[in-house]
Amino acid sequence: MTERRLGRGDRLVVASHNAGKLAEIAALLAPFGIEAVGAPALGLPEPEETGTSFVENATIKALAAARASGLPALADDSGFSVAALNGAPGVHTADWAKLPDGSRDYGVAMALTRARIGEPESDAAWFTCCLALAWPDGQVETFEGRVDGCWVWPPRGSRGFGYDPMFVPAGEVETFGEMAPERKHAISHRARAFALLRDRLG
Ligand code: IMP
Repeated sequence: MTERRLGRGDRLVVASHNAGKLAEIAALLAPFGIEAVGAPALGLPEPEETGTSFVENATIKALAAARASGLPALADDSGFSVAALNGAPGVHTADWAKLPDGSRDYGVAMALTRARIGEPESDAAWFTCCLALAWPDGQVETFEGRVDGCWVWPPRGSRGFGYDPMFVPAGEVETFGEMAPERKHAISHRARAFALLRDRLG
């Protein structure tokens, strides 16, 4: 496969409608001078995530955005996994937050996750992030990162997004919801996937 690169002044669609992810990805791309445009700003629809893995779903989202916009596109498929739930919610993380009216509430999702865990044998948990970089002609590359740690209850902190308040990364005392964004960006699953993608930037 030909190795393609993105550099200063290039436009890239960030194929996400999740404001938390858009902000984190824009912060990661900023030092490279790449112009990141969110999918909502281009009026791109959210494709159905029909895959059974983070790689499949990231690929679906990136390809749909690249083909619809004619620009290279970067998609993030990510999720929270609990060892005591055999890796759930995993690729269904966002679904567990869905309310009957279609909106999402992560306070509800975290409470549901805690209820399903019951009396746990283990508090092990992890986040996974798969980034897919797609081009309008259909070429795609994927990059996966993971951060291990444990879940905590009750949730703590109001920074970050999603399940951040119920996750403490290994070796840390604060949850992702409590720690400074710069600290999360240095150690997160998204930062680790991004470190692999960085070879294609600059
Ligand atoms: P999807 O990738 O759009 O299917 O959604 C993934 C879901 O996983 C998000 O809506 C968040 O709830 C959760 N998630 C992914 N990354 C993070 C993170 O960095 N912090 C907290 N929650 C996350």
